[in-house]
Amino acid sequence: MRTVLVTGGAGFIGSAVCRLLVGQGRRVICLDSLTYAGNLSTLDSVLHAPNFRFVHADIGDIATVAALLREESVDGIMHLAAETHVDRSIDSPAAFVETNVVGTVRLLDAALDHWRALPDPARAGFRFHHVSTDEVFGDLPLDSGVFTEDTAYAPSSPYSASKAASDHFVRAWHETYGLPVVLSNCSNNYGPYHFPEKLIPLTILGAIHGEPLPVYGSGANVRDWLHVEDHAEALARVIDGGTPGETYLIGGRAERSNLLVVEAICDLIDIRLGLLGGRPRRDLIRFVADRPGHDRRYAIDPSKIERELGWRPAHDFTTGLIHTVDWYLTNRAWWEPIRASRYAGERLGVSAARLANANQG
Ligand code: NAD
Repeated sequence: MRTVLVTGGAGFIGSAVCRLLVGQGRRVICLDSLTYAGNLSTLDSVLHAPNFRFVHADIGDIATVAALLREESVDGIMHLAAETHVDRSIDSPAAFVETNVVGTVRLLDAALDHWRALPDPARAGFRFHHVSTDEVFGDLPLDSGVFTEDTAYAPSSPYSASKAASDHFVRAWHETYGLPVVLSNCSNNYGPYHFPEKLIPLTILGAIHGEPLPVYGSGANVRDWLHVEDHAEALARVIDGGTPGETYLIGGRAERSNLLVVEAICDLIDIRLGLLGGRPRRDLIRFVADRPGHDRRYAIDPSKIERELGWRPAHDFTTGLIHTVDWYLTNRAWWEPIRASRYAGERLGVSAARLANANQG
């Protein structure tokens, strides 16, 4: 892929993808509507690169997307734009249907028109890469089983149901219209620029500030953690080398209970900042009523992407978490304005000057 349209590139994973692809010398067009979860400062390191262009638009804006695909001769789409927070999906599911399902279908329509108009061999090389989650597979017992590419879909939350639906539509555009799609379903990511409403950054910032640290239920739920840069590298391999119509599961073989993760963060902040009034930060942990429909465990078998695309994660969870904690301790300028805004559904303060200075469409 030489010219890639990345949707949701101002978010956590999309920005890591933009940084990786720009560093590889590809032309990257980042399309993002900058919801409360999108932030231009996340893209600071690439915003002014000559091979990067930011476009402030919605994935459902077919006219803008169609014009961009044509103008930029896009030969690959990496679709990451989505509403992503499970708790928000429980409170307001409609927004998840609108963006994750309807928005994806609109994007598929624009991609199909573009692909059909391409001359050969560009037509043969074009890919639509749908970036999805392991949450579409639902709940695993705490002590057995892993997800594979053959696992049946059984989503539990409005978020995972909307991602499952979008996966089905992407496959349908392949089976029905021949659009060359690839799909990937990844486990939980962590790392720099993670929006502070998610477990790891929420806990890091709460521990820095000495605030109560909420943990759902007894904290026994298990997630399979992967560093965001390893995910970005895997996504690049899937769009470059994946077989059209195929799905690739991506995971770091790093299962941890939520309680273990929160305790590890408390200990790391204690080491970096010292105890809080003589007490360990583990004392800040508060067990709160469990999330409805809370899946017990997710675990990925990543054998297919390892075997077929030669991908392996470069970070192990223990050192990756130390680096992540250190990143939040040294990058207050990124998260302080976000935290101050309380990210209560508003668009974040993207100043007109920042947008004007960006290499945007
Ligand atoms: P995020 O919430 O950090 O970022 C989402 C981005 O999409 C934001 O920049 C937002 O502004 C943008 N966006 C939302 N609606 C849009 C719209 N209608 N048009 C254009 N842009 C829009 O999300 P993330 O954690 O980076 O996740 C990215 C993708 O990866 C999602 O599709 C998610 O389902 C998937 N995924 C996430 C994880 C994880 O652990 N975070 C794991 C597996 C898969």
